[in-house]
Amino acid sequence: MDFGLSEEQEMIVKTVRGFVETEIYPHENEVERTGLVPPDLAAEIRRKCIDLGFYACNFPEEAGGAGLDHVTFTLVERELGRGSMALTVFFGRPSGILMACEGEQRERYLLPAVSGQKIDALAITEPDAGSDMRGMKCAARSDGSDFILNGTKHFISHADVADFIIVFAATGEEETSRGVKKKITAFLVDRGTPGFQILKGYDSVSHRGYHNCTLSFADCRIPASQVLGEVHRGFELANQWLYGTRLTVAATCVGRARRVFDMALSYAAERKQFGKPIGANQGVSFKLADMITEIDAAEWLTFSAAWRLDAGLTSDREIASAKLYASEMLARVTDEAIQIYGGMGLMDDLPLARFWRDARVERIWDGTSEIQRHIISRDLLRPLGA
Ligand SMILES: Cc1cc2nc3c(=O)[nH]c(=O)nc-3n(C[C@H](O)[C@H](O)[C@H](O)COP(=O)(O)OP(=O)(O)OC[C@H]3O[C@@H](n4cnc5c(N)ncnc54)[C@H](O)[C@@H]3O)c2cc1C
Repeated sequence: MDFGLSEEQEMIVKTVRGFVETEIYPHENEVERTGLVPPDLAAEIRRKCIDLGFYACNFPEEAGGAGLDHVTFTLVERELGRGSMALTVFFGRPSGILMACEGEQRERYLLPAVSGQKIDALAITEPDAGSDMRGMKCAARSDGSDFILNGTKHFISHADVADFIIVFAATGEEETSRGVKKKITAFLVDRGTPGFQILKGYDSVSHRGYHNCTLSFADCRIPASQVLGEVHRGFELANQWLYGTRLTVAATCVGRARRVFDMALSYAAERKQFGKPIGANQGVSFKLADMITEIDAAEWLTFSAAWRLDAGLTSDREIASAKLYASEMLARVTDEAIQIYGGMGLMDDLPLARFWRDARVERIWDGTSEIQRHIISRDLLRPLGA
Protein backbone atom coordinates (compact mmCIF):
# COMPACT_ATOMS: atom_id res chain seq x y z
CA MET A 1 0.00 0.00 0.00
CA ASP A 2 1.37 3.44 -0.95
CA PHE A 3 0.72 6.05 1.74
CA GLY A 4 2.28 8.95 -0.18
CA LEU A 5 0.63 11.55 -2.39
CA SER A 6 1.48 11.84 -6.08
CA GLU A 7 2.93 15.11 -7.37
CA GLU A 8 -0.46 15.92 -8.89
CA GLN A 9 -2.22 15.29 -5.58
CA GLU A 10 0.30 17.49 -3.73
CA MET A 11 -0.37 20.24 -6.25
CA ILE A 12 -4.14 19.90 -5.88
CA VAL A 13 -3.91 20.08 -2.07
CA LYS A 14 -1.70 23.18 -2.31
CA THR A 15 -4.03 24.88 -4.79
CA VAL A 16 -7.24 24.17 -2.89
CA ARG A 17 -5.74 25.13 0.46
CA GLY A 18 -4.44 28.36 -1.08
CA PHE A 19 -7.90 29.04 -2.50
CA VAL A 20 -9.57 28.47 0.87
CA GLU A 21 -7.06 30.65 2.72
CA THR A 22 -7.17 33.58 0.29
CA GLU A 23 -10.74 33.46 -1.08
CA ILE A 24 -12.73 32.01 1.83
CA TYR A 25 -11.06 32.92 5.16
CA PRO A 26 -11.28 36.72 4.65
CA HIS A 27 -15.09 36.59 4.33
CA GLU A 28 -15.84 34.17 7.16
CA ASN A 29 -16.37 36.67 9.98
CA GLU A 30 -18.82 38.72 7.96
CA VAL A 31 -20.84 35.64 6.92
CA GLU A 32 -20.84 34.53 10.55
CA ARG A 33 -22.02 37.96 11.72
CA THR A 34 -24.75 38.46 9.11
CA GLY A 35 -25.73 34.86 8.41
CA LEU A 36 -25.67 35.74 4.70
CA VAL A 37 -23.42 35.25 1.68
CA PRO A 38 -23.79 38.22 -0.69
CA PRO A 39 -24.84 36.86 -4.14
CA ASP A 40 -21.98 38.66 -5.92
CA LEU A 41 -19.47 36.99 -3.57
CA ALA A 42 -21.07 33.59 -4.21
CA ALA A 43 -20.83 34.19 -7.98
CA GLU A 44 -17.19 35.28 -7.67
CA ILE A 45 -16.21 32.15 -5.71
CA ARG A 46 -17.95 30.01 -8.32
CA ARG A 47 -16.27 31.80 -11.23
CA LYS A 48 -12.79 31.55 -9.68
CA CYS A 49 -13.32 27.87 -8.98
CA ILE A 50 -14.41 27.27 -12.59
CA ASP A 51 -11.32 29.16 -13.81
CA LEU A 52 -9.12 26.97 -11.62
CA GLY A 53 -10.71 23.88 -13.20
CA PHE A 54 -12.02 22.56 -9.89
CA TYR A 55 -15.76 23.06 -10.31
CA ALA A 56 -17.56 19.69 -10.09
CA CYS A 57 -14.24 17.94 -9.65
CA ASN A 58 -16.20 14.97 -8.27
CA PHE A 59 -17.68 14.32 -11.75
CA PRO A 60 -16.14 12.27 -14.55
CA GLU A 61 -14.56 14.05 -17.49
CA GLU A 62 -17.19 12.68 -19.90
CA ALA A 63 -19.75 14.77 -17.99
CA GLY A 64 -17.50 17.84 -18.03
CA GLY A 65 -16.03 17.36 -14.54
CA ALA A 66 -12.41 17.16 -13.46
CA GLY A 67 -12.59 13.37 -13.18
CA LEU A 68 -10.81 13.04 -9.85
CA ASP A 69 -10.69 9.61 -8.24
CA HIS A 70 -12.19 9.20 -4.77
CA VAL A 71 -8.91 9.55 -2.89
CA THR A 72 -8.01 12.79 -4.66
CA PHE A 73 -11.53 14.18 -4.29
CA THR A 74 -11.35 13.32 -0.58
CA LEU A 75 -8.17 15.42 -0.39
CA VAL A 76 -10.06 18.33 -1.99
CA GLU A 77 -12.90 17.96 0.51
CA ARG A 78 -10.45 17.83 3.41
CA GLU A 79 -9.00 21.17 2.33
CA LEU A 80 -12.44 22.70 1.77
CA GLY A 81 -13.39 21.55 5.28
CA ARG A 82 -11.01 24.19 6.65
CA GLY A 83 -13.28 26.92 5.33
CA SER A 84 -16.80 28.09 6.08
CA MET A 85 -19.45 25.73 4.74
CA ALA A 86 -21.61 28.68 3.67
CA LEU A 87 -18.85 29.87 1.34
CA THR A 88 -17.25 26.61 0.21
CA VAL A 89 -20.59 25.33 -1.11
CA PHE A 90 -20.02 27.64 -4.08
CA PHE A 91 -16.80 25.76 -4.87
CA GLY A 92 -19.29 23.43 -6.54
CA ARG A 93 -19.68 19.71 -5.90
CA PRO A 94 -23.05 18.76 -7.40
CA SER A 95 -24.72 15.63 -6.05
CA GLY A 96 -23.19 12.52 -7.65
CA ILE A 97 -26.69 11.14 -8.07
CA LEU A 98 -27.04 13.38 -11.15
CA MET A 99 -24.97 10.81 -13.02
CA ALA A 100 -28.24 8.86 -13.19
CA CYS A 101 -29.61 11.52 -15.61
CA GLU A 102 -30.56 10.09 -18.97
CA GLY A 103 -31.42 11.50 -22.43
CA GLU A 104 -32.43 15.16 -22.38
CA GLN A 105 -32.04 15.22 -18.56
CA ARG A 106 -28.31 15.34 -19.18
CA GLU A 107 -28.61 18.64 -21.12
CA ARG A 108 -31.15 20.11 -18.76
CA TYR A 109 -29.73 19.11 -15.35
CA LEU A 110 -26.46 17.18 -15.35
CA LEU A 111 -24.34 19.32 -17.70
CA PRO A 112 -25.47 22.73 -16.34
CA ALA A 113 -24.84 21.48 -12.78
CA VAL A 114 -21.35 20.35 -13.72
CA SER A 115 -20.52 23.56 -15.61
CA GLY A 116 -21.75 25.77 -12.75
CA GLN A 117 -24.75 27.23 -14.59
CA LYS A 118 -27.22 25.55 -12.24
CA ILE A 119 -27.09 24.56 -8.57
CA ASP A 120 -28.81 21.42 -7.28
CA ALA A 121 -30.08 20.45 -3.82
CA LEU A 122 -31.31 17.11 -2.52
CA ALA A 123 -34.56 16.57 -0.61
CA ILE A 124 -35.25 13.37 1.31
CA THR A 125 -35.95 14.42 4.91
CA GLU A 126 -39.43 15.31 6.15
CA PRO A 127 -40.83 16.43 9.50
CA ASP A 128 -42.00 12.85 10.21
CA ALA A 129 -39.33 10.96 8.28
CA GLY A 130 -35.65 11.52 9.08
CA SER A 131 -33.50 8.44 9.63
CA ASP A 132 -36.38 6.31 8.37
CA MET A 133 -36.49 7.37 4.74
CA ARG A 134 -39.17 4.80 3.89
CA GLY A 135 -41.49 6.50 6.36
CA MET A 136 -41.87 9.49 4.07
CA LYS A 137 -45.34 10.96 3.51
CA CYS A 138 -44.50 13.21 0.56
CA ALA A 139 -46.21 11.34 -2.26
CA ALA A 140 -46.37 11.43 -6.04
CA ARG A 141 -49.41 9.87 -7.73
CA SER A 142 -49.39 9.14 -11.40
CA ASP A 143 -51.78 11.15 -13.61
CA GLY A 144 -51.53 10.24 -17.29
CA SER A 145 -47.93 10.79 -18.26
CA ASP A 146 -47.35 13.13 -15.27
CA PHE A 147 -46.95 12.77 -11.51
CA ILE A 148 -48.72 14.99 -8.98
CA LEU A 149 -46.54 15.75 -5.97
CA ASN A 150 -47.93 16.63 -2.52
CA GLY A 151 -46.19 16.97 0.83
CA THR A 152 -43.44 18.73 2.76
CA LYS A 153 -39.68 18.36 3.05
CA HIS A 154 -37.58 20.10 5.67
CA PHE A 155 -33.90 20.71 6.56
CA ILE A 156 -33.04 20.95 2.85
CA SER A 157 -29.54 22.44 2.60
CA HIS A 158 -28.88 25.37 0.27
CA ALA A 159 -32.28 25.03 -1.45
CA ASP A 160 -32.44 28.84 -1.16
CA VAL A 161 -29.74 29.10 -3.84
CA ALA A 162 -30.72 26.01 -5.86
CA ASP A 163 -32.12 26.08 -9.38
CA PHE A 164 -33.54 22.59 -9.12
CA ILE A 165 -34.06 20.00 -6.40
CA ILE A 166 -33.75 16.22 -6.51
CA VAL A 167 -36.89 15.26 -4.60
CA PHE A 168 -37.68 11.79 -3.26
CA ALA A 169 -41.37 10.90 -2.93
CA ALA A 170 -43.44 7.81 -2.19
CA THR A 171 -45.04 6.32 -5.30
CA GLY A 172 -46.74 3.27 -3.82
CA GLU A 173 -46.34 0.40 -1.39
CA GLU A 174 -45.06 -3.15 -1.60
CA GLU A 175 -45.30 -6.28 0.55
CA THR A 176 -41.86 -7.37 1.75
CA SER A 177 -40.70 -10.08 4.15
CA ARG A 178 -40.48 -7.28 6.75
CA GLY A 179 -44.00 -5.96 6.17
CA VAL A 180 -45.44 -3.25 3.91
CA LYS A 181 -42.83 -0.77 2.66
CA LYS A 182 -43.12 2.41 0.62
CA LYS A 183 -41.86 2.44 -2.94
CA ILE A 184 -39.89 5.61 -3.58
CA THR A 185 -39.11 7.57 -6.75
CA ALA A 186 -36.67 10.46 -7.32
CA PHE A 187 -37.79 13.53 -9.32
CA LEU A 188 -35.95 16.50 -10.80
CA VAL A 189 -38.03 19.53 -9.81
CA ASP A 190 -37.28 23.03 -11.09
CA ARG A 191 -37.51 26.12 -8.90
CA GLY A 192 -40.62 27.99 -10.02
CA THR A 193 -42.67 24.91 -10.93
CA PRO A 194 -46.34 25.74 -10.10
CA GLY A 195 -47.34 24.19 -6.77
CA PHE A 196 -43.73 24.09 -5.52
CA GLN A 197 -42.50 26.55 -2.90
CA ILE A 198 -39.05 26.95 -1.33
CA LEU A 199 -39.58 28.44 2.13
CA LYS A 200 -37.20 29.70 4.80
CA GLY A 201 -36.15 26.87 7.09
CA TYR A 202 -34.91 26.95 10.69
CA ASP A 203 -32.12 29.00 12.22
CA SER A 204 -29.40 26.46 12.96
CA VAL A 205 -26.65 26.57 15.57
CA SER A 206 -24.18 25.16 13.02
CA HIS A 207 -22.85 26.69 9.80
CA ARG A 208 -24.36 30.18 9.85
CA GLY A 209 -24.98 31.44 6.33
CA TYR A 210 -25.49 27.89 5.06
CA HIS A 211 -29.26 27.79 5.07
CA ASN A 212 -31.70 24.92 5.28
CA CYS A 213 -35.16 25.29 3.72
CA THR A 214 -38.63 23.83 3.93
CA LEU A 215 -40.12 22.67 0.63
CA SER A 216 -43.85 22.58 0.05
CA PHE A 217 -45.59 20.68 -2.74
CA ALA A 218 -49.30 21.25 -3.39
CA ASP A 219 -50.61 19.42 -6.46
CA CYS A 220 -47.28 20.07 -8.15
CA ARG A 221 -47.34 18.52 -11.63
CA ILE A 222 -44.09 16.86 -12.76
CA PRO A 223 -43.77 15.19 -16.17
CA ALA A 224 -42.56 11.58 -16.18
CA SER A 225 -39.53 12.78 -18.16
CA GLN A 226 -38.31 14.31 -14.89
CA VAL A 227 -38.11 11.02 -13.04
CA LEU A 228 -34.47 10.43 -12.09
CA GLY A 229 -33.60 6.77 -12.58
CA GLU A 230 -36.49 4.33 -12.60
CA VAL A 231 -39.94 4.74 -11.10
CA HIS A 232 -40.12 3.02 -7.66
CA ARG A 233 -36.32 2.61 -7.56
CA GLY A 234 -35.45 5.81 -5.64
CA PHE A 235 -34.38 3.98 -2.47
CA GLU A 236 -31.87 1.90 -4.42
CA LEU A 237 -30.73 5.02 -6.33
CA ALA A 238 -30.07 6.85 -3.05
CA ASN A 239 -28.11 3.88 -1.69
CA GLN A 240 -26.10 3.66 -4.90
CA TRP A 241 -25.05 7.31 -5.03
CA LEU A 242 -25.34 8.98 -1.66
CA TYR A 243 -22.51 7.14 0.12
CA GLY A 244 -20.23 9.82 -1.33
CA THR A 245 -21.69 12.57 0.83
CA ARG A 246 -20.91 10.62 4.01
CA LEU A 247 -17.29 10.38 2.93
CA THR A 248 -17.36 14.10 2.21
CA VAL A 249 -18.55 14.77 5.77
CA ALA A 250 -15.67 12.66 7.12
CA ALA A 251 -13.11 14.49 4.99
CA THR A 252 -14.36 17.98 5.85
CA CYS A 253 -14.31 17.06 9.57
CA VAL A 254 -10.65 16.08 9.24
CA GLY A 255 -9.76 19.35 7.47
CA ARG A 256 -11.58 21.49 10.04
CA ALA A 257 -10.00 19.55 12.90
CA ARG A 258 -6.54 20.22 11.45
CA ARG A 259 -7.23 23.96 11.29
CA VAL A 260 -8.43 23.92 14.90
CA PHE A 261 -5.49 21.80 16.00
CA ASP A 262 -2.94 24.16 14.43
CA MET A 263 -4.45 27.03 16.41
CA ALA A 264 -4.44 25.06 19.67
CA LEU A 265 -0.85 23.90 19.14
CA SER A 266 0.44 27.44 18.53
CA TYR A 267 -1.45 28.79 21.50
CA ALA A 268 -0.13 26.07 23.80
CA ALA A 269 3.41 27.01 22.79
CA GLU A 270 2.89 30.82 23.07
CA ARG A 271 0.56 31.38 26.01
CA LYS A 272 2.44 31.65 29.30
CA GLN A 273 1.05 31.07 32.76
CA PHE A 274 3.07 30.47 35.93
CA GLY A 275 6.11 31.68 33.99
CA LYS A 276 6.09 28.98 31.30
CA PRO A 277 4.13 28.01 28.17
CA ILE A 278 0.87 26.28 29.09
CA GLY A 279 1.95 23.46 26.71
CA ALA A 280 4.76 22.61 29.15
CA ASN A 281 2.08 21.14 31.42
CA GLN A 282 1.09 17.58 30.66
CA GLY A 283 -2.51 18.59 31.35
CA VAL A 284 -2.29 20.56 28.09
CA SER A 285 0.35 18.69 26.08
CA PHE A 286 -1.39 15.34 26.52
CA LYS A 287 -4.57 16.87 25.13
CA LEU A 288 -2.58 17.82 22.01
CA ALA A 289 -1.20 14.28 21.78
CA ASP A 290 -4.70 12.82 21.94
CA MET A 291 -6.06 15.35 19.45
CA ILE A 292 -3.46 14.70 16.75
CA THR A 293 -3.73 10.93 17.23
CA GLU A 294 -7.49 11.09 16.71
CA ILE A 295 -7.18 13.41 13.71
CA ASP A 296 -4.66 11.11 12.05
CA ALA A 297 -6.83 8.07 12.80
CA ALA A 298 -9.88 9.77 11.28
CA GLU A 299 -7.86 10.75 8.22
CA TRP A 300 -6.66 7.20 7.65
CA LEU A 301 -10.15 5.78 8.04
CA THR A 302 -11.38 8.33 5.50
CA PHE A 303 -8.64 7.74 2.95
CA SER A 304 -8.80 3.99 3.25
CA ALA A 305 -12.57 4.10 2.59
CA ALA A 306 -11.93 6.31 -0.46
CA TRP A 307 -9.18 3.95 -1.59
CA ARG A 308 -11.59 1.01 -1.32
CA LEU A 309 -14.10 2.87 -3.51
CA ASP A 310 -11.40 3.48 -6.13
CA ALA A 311 -10.44 -0.20 -5.97
CA GLY A 312 -14.07 -1.24 -6.51
CA LEU A 313 -14.21 -2.97 -3.12
CA THR A 314 -17.22 -3.01 -0.80
CA SER A 315 -17.04 0.09 1.34
CA ASP A 316 -20.37 0.76 3.10
CA ARG A 317 -19.04 -0.23 6.51
CA GLU A 318 -15.73 1.58 6.01
CA ILE A 319 -17.46 4.80 4.91
CA ALA A 320 -19.81 4.59 7.90
CA SER A 321 -16.82 4.10 10.24
CA ALA A 322 -15.05 7.10 8.72
CA LYS A 323 -18.12 9.34 9.00
CA LEU A 324 -18.85 8.18 12.54
CA TYR A 325 -15.32 8.51 13.85
CA ALA A 326 -14.38 11.75 12.06
CA SER A 327 -17.54 13.60 13.12
CA GLU A 328 -17.20 12.46 16.75
CA MET A 329 -13.46 13.25 16.66
CA LEU A 330 -14.22 16.82 15.49
CA ALA A 331 -16.53 17.36 18.45
CA ARG A 332 -13.80 16.27 20.89
CA VAL A 333 -11.05 18.25 19.13
CA THR A 334 -13.00 21.53 18.98
CA ASP A 335 -14.00 21.13 22.63
CA GLU A 336 -10.43 20.49 23.77
CA ALA A 337 -9.13 23.39 21.67
CA ILE A 338 -11.49 25.72 23.52
CA GLN A 339 -10.24 24.27 26.81
CA ILE A 340 -6.65 25.00 25.78
CA TYR A 341 -7.58 28.61 24.90
CA GLY A 342 -9.44 29.08 28.17
CA GLY A 343 -12.00 31.93 28.21
CA MET A 344 -10.67 33.43 25.01
CA GLY A 345 -11.77 30.26 23.20
CA LEU A 346 -15.40 31.21 23.72
CA MET A 347 -15.11 34.75 22.40
CA ASP A 348 -16.30 35.78 18.96
CA ASP A 349 -12.91 37.37 18.28
CA LEU A 350 -11.64 33.87 17.49
CA PRO A 351 -13.31 31.30 15.20
CA LEU A 352 -13.09 28.49 17.78
CA ALA A 353 -16.60 28.81 19.17
CA ARG A 354 -17.83 28.73 15.57
CA PHE A 355 -15.94 25.48 14.85
CA TRP A 356 -17.35 24.02 18.07
CA ARG A 357 -20.92 24.92 17.05
CA ASP A 358 -20.38 23.83 13.46
CA ALA A 359 -19.09 20.45 14.63
CA ARG A 360 -22.43 19.59 16.20
CA VAL A 361 -24.34 19.00 12.98
CA GLU A 362 -21.75 16.62 11.57
CA ARG A 363 -22.99 13.85 13.91
CA ILE A 364 -26.54 14.35 12.68
CA TRP A 365 -26.74 15.01 8.96
CA ASP A 366 -26.07 12.42 6.27
CA GLY A 367 -27.07 9.74 8.77
CA THR A 368 -26.74 10.21 12.54
CA SER A 369 -23.98 8.53 14.55
CA GLU A 370 -26.53 5.93 15.66
CA ILE A 371 -27.42 5.13 12.03
CA GLN A 372 -23.70 4.80 11.15
CA ARG A 373 -23.30 2.38 14.09
CA HIS A 374 -26.32 0.50 12.79
CA ILE A 375 -24.75 0.18 9.31
CA ILE A 376 -21.45 -1.00 10.80
CA SER A 377 -22.94 -3.53 13.20
CA ARG A 378 -25.40 -4.87 10.61
CA ASP A 379 -22.48 -5.50 8.25
CA LEU A 380 -20.73 -7.48 10.99
CA LEU A 381 -23.71 -9.45 12.27
CA ARG A 382 -25.76 -10.12 9.16
CA PRO A 383 -23.33 -12.71 7.72
CA LEU A 384 -23.67 -14.57 11.04
CA GLY A 385 -27.44 -14.65 10.66
CA ALA A 386 -28.04 -12.26 13.59
C1 LIG B 1 -28.54 21.54 9.05
C2 LIG B 1 -29.13 20.31 8.41
C3 LIG B 1 -29.09 20.17 7.03
C4 LIG B 1 -29.64 19.05 6.41
N1 LIG B 1 -29.62 18.95 5.05
C5 LIG B 1 -30.37 17.98 4.45
C6 LIG B 1 -30.54 17.95 3.03
O1 LIG B 1 -29.97 18.76 2.30
N2 LIG B 1 -31.37 17.01 2.49
C7 LIG B 1 -32.01 16.09 3.26
O2 LIG B 1 -32.76 15.27 2.71
N3 LIG B 1 -31.83 16.05 4.60
C8 LIG B 1 -31.04 16.98 5.22
N4 LIG B 1 -30.87 16.98 6.58
C9 LIG B 1 -31.57 15.96 7.37
C10 LIG B 1 -30.66 14.98 8.09
O3 LIG B 1 -30.12 14.05 7.20
C11 LIG B 1 -31.52 14.37 9.21
O4 LIG B 1 -31.62 15.37 10.23
C12 LIG B 1 -30.97 13.09 9.77
O5 LIG B 1 -31.03 12.06 8.82
C13 LIG B 1 -31.72 12.65 11.03
O6 LIG B 1 -33.10 12.73 10.87
P1 LIG B 1 -33.97 13.49 11.99
O7 LIG B 1 -33.33 14.79 12.26
O8 LIG B 1 -35.39 13.48 11.56
O9 LIG B 1 -33.81 12.61 13.31
P2 LIG B 1 -34.58 11.26 13.65
O10 LIG B 1 -34.47 10.29 12.53
O11 LIG B 1 -35.94 11.57 14.17
O12 LIG B 1 -33.70 10.71 14.86
C14 LIG B 1 -33.79 11.23 16.18
C15 LIG B 1 -32.84 10.43 17.04
O13 LIG B 1 -33.22 9.04 17.05
C16 LIG B 1 -32.12 8.26 16.64
N5 LIG B 1 -32.60 7.13 15.85
C17 LIG B 1 -33.51 7.10 14.84
N6 LIG B 1 -33.66 5.87 14.35
C18 LIG B 1 -32.81 5.08 15.06
C19 LIG B 1 -32.47 3.70 15.01
N7 LIG B 1 -33.04 2.84 14.14
N8 LIG B 1 -31.55 3.23 15.87
C20 LIG B 1 -30.97 4.06 16.78
N9 LIG B 1 -31.22 5.38 16.86
C21 LIG B 1 -32.13 5.88 16.01
C22 LIG B 1 -31.26 9.17 15.78
O14 LIG B 1 -29.93 8.70 15.69
C23 LIG B 1 -31.40 10.48 16.54
O15 LIG B 1 -30.51 10.48 17.61
C24 LIG B 1 -30.25 18.05 7.21
C25 LIG B 1 -30.26 18.18 8.61
C26 LIG B 1 -29.69 19.29 9.21
C27 LIG B 1 -29.73 19.39 10.71
